[in-house]
Amino acid sequence: MRENLGGRMPRSNDLPAATVVINRFDSYCNNCGIDCSFFEKTHDTNLGYSKDIRDTPGCGIEWKFVASDYIGLEVDKCRPDLEYISRWV
Ligand SMILES: [Zn+2]
Repeated sequence: MRENLGGRMPRSNDLPAATVVINRFDSYCNNCGIDCSFFEKTHDTNLGYSKDIRDTPGCGIEWKFVASDYIGLEVDKCRPDLEYISRWV
């Protein structure tokens, strides 16, 4: 789990950088920690409350993995093209 730093989040240390983390109400890129659209192949678009962040392009990493901070969300179905990482047994 990550700590809230006010819009920009530190990445989850138990996941690879090239992971898109899909949650109930937001998604973030685990390379840069910024909210993103999980539909993209690479992190091109920043989302979030801050206009400064939204006006900046994403970090551009190509996501290889998909995961969630929430148990029970079937995020593998959102991105079947990515390798799903389950953080729970
Ligand atoms: Zn990113």
